[in-house]
Amino acid sequence: MPKINKILIANRGEIALRIMRTLHEMGIMTVAIYSDADRGGPHVSFAKEAIYLGPPPSKQSYLLQDKIIELSKTLKVDAIHPGYGFLSENADFARKVQENGIIFIGPSPTSIEVMGSKLAAKKAVGKYNIPLVPGTDEPISDLTEAKNIAHEIGYPILIKASAGGGGKGMRIVEEEKQFDEQLQRAVSEAQSSFGDGAVFIEKYINSPRHIEIQILGDQHGNIVHLFERECSIQRRHQKVIEEAPSAVVSPQMRQEMGQAAINVAKACNYFGAGTVEFIVDEKLNFYFLEMNTRLQVEHPVTEFITGKDLVRVQVLIAEGKPLSFKQEELNILGHAIETRVYAEDPKNNFLPDIGKLQTYKRPQGPGIRVDDGFEEGMDIPIYYDPMIAKLICFAEDRKKCIEKMIRAIDGYNITGIENTLQFARYVMKHDSFRSGKFDTKFIEKYFEPENLKTDFSRDEKDILAALSSYIFKQSSPENHSKSNHQLIKKSNWNKRKKRG
Ligand code: ADP
Ligand code: ADP
Ligand code: MG
Repeated sequence: MPKINKILIANRGEIALRIMRTLHEMGIMTVAIYSDADRGGPHVSFAKEAIYLGPPPSKQSYLLQDKIIELSKTLKVDAIHPGYGFLSENADFARKVQENGIIFIGPSPTSIEVMGSKLAAKKAVGKYNIPLVPGTDEPISDLTEAKNIAHEIGYPILIKASAGGGGKGMRIVEEEKQFDEQLQRAVSEAQSSFGDGAVFIEKYINSPRHIEIQILGDQHGNIVHLFERECSIQRRHQKVIEEAPSAVVSPQMRQEMGQAAINVAKACNYFGAGTVEFIVDEKLNFYFLEMNTRLQVEHPVTEFITGKDLVRVQVLIAEGKPLSFKQEELNILGHAIETRVYAEDPKNNFLPDIGKLQTYKRPQGPGIRVDDGFEEGMDIPIYYDPMIAKLICFAEDRKKCIEKMIRAIDGYNITGIENTLQFARYVMKHDSFRSGKFDTKFIEKYFEPENLKTDFSRDEKDILAALSSYIFKQSSPENHSKSNHQLIKKSNWNKRKKRG
């Protein structure tokens, strides 16, 4: 069995740091790569060694496959961890890495290939009786035929890029007369974003939930699932808030979804960490959407509820070790919620914002984890994903976890850049989220940007100062100090309650 002593992390930002933390605990040497935009950044200084790649655009740095492999050979690296995004789901890269005698920390290139195409994935799971969303199983080639199929399925339908990811390359068609135009757009978006114009049709599920299953498989055929993650709070078909477990999944449904996910993994001889995504309709029927063959952004919620370090397990699997635990040994230990802190303006359609992190103070306390890749004073580079951080909370049950998340958000101080923290606070306070009755349309249905809590700290302080001096003047000299204190605290509390 190969022992891994040195790993190059082919990524940047929070995920590169998160991976390296575990590797250092395991006594593994780490190599970071960086572009000009990340010179001197936290992931660079944290690594044991760091190598410069090139200019900021990904194509000239983080996506330079051959250069990354050459550097790995020169530095005698045993394995490459790709993180998420960038080269993580690139089968050609995984294959080249292996051909150069380096371990790719992920599944086999063939598994990546099959699951990287949504159409190939659906075909592959065919013999396992996995429920699929009604739709076409071939790319659309004939317009008339495609329209007939859409008519049969019934509008609204979704035109999807087979190679799609990150919520891109998807078009909703409400009625037949929009079909031609939406098809054209979907094809050109698929071509420009993914270099593959193949698109297909899926029934558009109304008010669905996105619920996914984390799986882990070793190279000896053992596969377990680590329960579900609820990822229905989304904008632009992309997740912003995730939690585990889901408020609507019963033990029986969990068992069925878990088994379906394991079968999806079996269908492509999967090993490593992976995620099987399902769309769930109003009656809680679930349908296979796709499989992500990598570590997921929201993996920390699963780490909290299972107590497993997914990166550690990924490395052990890559070394050829059998899984050290069985399905029956896995338990749900509590509840976890993740808020993705994006440099986006929730008051303005979640448009990306750029700028400097003028203030950046993290929240603290038991059950609070912040995975980030920035420090105070740093600029958010425009070249990469606009995610500043992930704030993850863990508590014994969902209700306590929501309260903890609110406290953590209130203890997180970011100025200089618009971000999604107050949006998450709005969600945590909203009845539909609290009751568990929500779906991917949460923002459309319930979000009122005008009711976002803005940063009150400054005027809150001014009002309190004025109030305090007023009370001080009014109160009798012998007991003013104590009663003032109580009054201020109480008025502050009432105000908070009203605003929240
Ligand atoms: P996750 O799938 O892990 O829940 P996202 O959907 O936000 O999270 O995707 C994770 C990262 O990978 C994001 O930076 C996203 O832009 C990127 N990404 C996902 N799929 C693709 C793809 N097929 N091509 C390019 N980038 C992708
Ligand atoms: P990506 O590769 O971009 O992640 P997915 O197939 O995983 O693509 O879908 C992303 C999101 O789009 C889902 O989480 C869901 O919100 C929405 N979506 C996808 N398919 C459907 C569908 N058939 N009906 C309704 N919503 C869908
Ligand atoms: Mg997806």
